[in-house]
Amino acid sequence: MMKNYQLTPTKVAICPICNSKSAKILWSVDSSQAAQHYVTKEADTQRFLNLAAHIKELWKQNTCDIVQCDDCGFCYSNPYIAGDDKFYTLAYERSHYPTWKWEHQLTYEALLHEDSKNFKLLEIGAGDGAFVKGIAPNLTSLENVVCTEFSDYGKEQIQNYGIKCLSEDIREVKAEVFKEYFDVVCMYQVIEHMDRLDTLFESLNWLTKPHAKLFVSVPNPKHVEFSELNGGLMDMPPNHIGRWNKECFERIGKHWDWQVDRFEIEKTDFISGAILFYKYIFWRKCQESGTLANKISQIKNPHLSKLMRLVGIGFYTLKNLSTMKALSSEELGLSQWVLMKKIN
Ligand SMILES: [Zn+2]
Repeated sequence: MMKNYQLTPTKVAICPICNSKSAKILWSVDSSQAAQHYVTKEADTQRFLNLAAHIKELWKQNTCDIVQCDDCGFCYSNPYIAGDDKFYTLAYERSHYPTWKWEHQLTYEALLHEDSKNFKLLEIGAGDGAFVKGIAPNLTSLENVVCTEFSDYGKEQIQNYGIKCLSEDIREVKAEVFKEYFDVVCMYQVIEHMDRLDTLFESLNWLTKPHAKLFVSVPNPKHVEFSELNGGLMDMPPNHIGRWNKECFERIGKHWDWQVDRFEIEKTDFISGAILFYKYIFWRKCQESGTLANKISQIKNPHLSKLMRLVGIGFYTLKNLSTMKALSSEELGLSQWVLMKKIN
């Protein structure tokens, strides 16, 4: 188990946020270790091999470092390359669609104070529309809302509700009708998956009106770090490729004329924090060949699998009770939320 980050200086990485070349390696993986995070070779050998080969292809090399920028604190995968369609198809059985979340509520409350009830809203990576369904027609009309979403299921749910949904990468949306069209843009748990950040902000600037608002949520870096250094899940590329903090938003905002107006970190109660953490420990152990968790993860019978997973989580909880104290002294909410305002 990794208790500390490696912190070896490297000169070969360039920070995607602030362009600094000064960074330290936190940890490194090869394509097989990365693939094992998503699909274990014990559970599905062929899919594991395909995934490992595809990750190597994406990286154009066999290894990847997770580095931290010395200047802005951004942690990023080097090479900084996002997963593509093929990666997500191989890595995940099915997509998970979040329901109404903490960051949705904060945005909702911020939008309640909008002067006009006629604002144009874009949500990038809208899942099955949980957020926009709470916004329209409540705060603005359905026809004022546009979503992007790649999954067919999600897109269909959004369209059935009466909201326009594009299955395009937002960086490729060039339709003249959307030029300086949006007052509000939302990206929940999306930007940590994305490379080509300059192109993203160039597009956001093109799509939005002067003084537009941008609402972003990303994982809480403290939560990620705690998990990685206490035997929980690793924040594995090429799913997540960037670990954002407040300064990252300030720096990239400064470059593209957006100002950080509000910044919040989610709070969590101890019990839900602990339950999630011990699940992370179990899931991490599932990736390790020969462990009890790894054997449980190979059970095909759904009822037995469910039961044994509970047993497994209990087993690893008891084995790792000593972490409970550290857990109770940390602020380990899952997410951060930021409101940025376009300067002009
Ligand atoms: Zn940086």
